[in-house]
Amino acid sequence: MPVLNRNAAARVSSRSNLALPAAALALADPAPGGPSRLPDAARGRIFDTCANPGCRSGWLRLWRSRSAPVFEGGWCCSEACTRALVGLALAREMEARGSAADTRRPRLPLGLVMLERGWIAADQLRGALEAQRAAGGGRLGYWLARQQGVSAALVTRALGLQWSCPVLPLEFHDPEGLTPLVPRLFIDAFGALPLRVAAGRILYLGFEDRLDPALALAVERITGLRVESGMVEESRFRPAHARLLKARFPAVELIEAASEPALAYAMARALERARPVESRLARVHDCLWLRMWLRPRTSAVPELDAVSDLIGSAGGN
Ligand SMILES: [Zn+2]
Repeated sequence: MPVLNRNAAARVSSRSNLALPAAALALADPAPGGPSRLPDAARGRIFDTCANPGCRSGWLRLWRSRSAPVFEGGWCCSEACTRALVGLALAREMEARGSAADTRRPRLPLGLVMLERGWIAADQLRGALEAQRAAGGGRLGYWLARQQGVSAALVTRALGLQWSCPVLPLEFHDPEGLTPLVPRLFIDAFGALPLRVAAGRILYLGFEDRLDPALALAVERITGLRVESGMVEESRFRPAHARLLKARFPAVELIEAASEPALAYAMARALERARPVESRLARVHDCLWLRMWLRPRTSAVPELDAVSDLIGSAGGN
């Protein structure tokens, strides 16, 4: 049921819903004893209109008993509008596929980077490449270290040069404390290791042998933190990564939808159920990540039970 407590100003116009916003605008004018006494933030919120650009209801948040869900900073007046808004966001994310973040590759092969700097000799590179071929794969850095006796630290340094990123230390690493920032599925599937948050605004994200700019960008958009990606030496990365995967993570729902509209529908349902105070959508490769904040944010890293994720894929991707 929509309007429960229309006030005097709203009654001025009772002809149709479409006329209501004009009355509300009059209400919003500063008037002694009127709504101008509200703090600015609260005023902004209660005078919000529905965020769905196609919405024709004209409801203001002020007149609705629902104040949530909030999706990407906008309030939705009804479940249909939540669905429409999520559908638009989903289409936006799918359109951006194949962007620079997805396709970034290092400029130079690792062997060449090391050869150029004189860190390995040509016959060491040849030997490692042969071993790699004979084994049918494996990373070149692995074969250089294992078969040619090149130090793992040097390989990691070369990876940093190859990807133009720093080598990140594990000091001050707090795996359990950072699980609310990146879903376990992404940490596992894309080999990422959240290392620490500096000054409440920079997240250091470690990788073993190749960066994942698409994941880094999604984490940045969802968390609002600036993500600094870097390499972590393999011997340190592996145990830290294994330990992190055993830690507790926020609740997550995984959905494999048959189509994009079906995924939008499932996400809208989740939003209507959880009624988050904020939520955001970002794509990570073929996954769509919907994060919901169930309580207002008070720090850079939310509490485990203050957020909830939905990760979905749409058939035919
Ligand atoms: Zn609406």
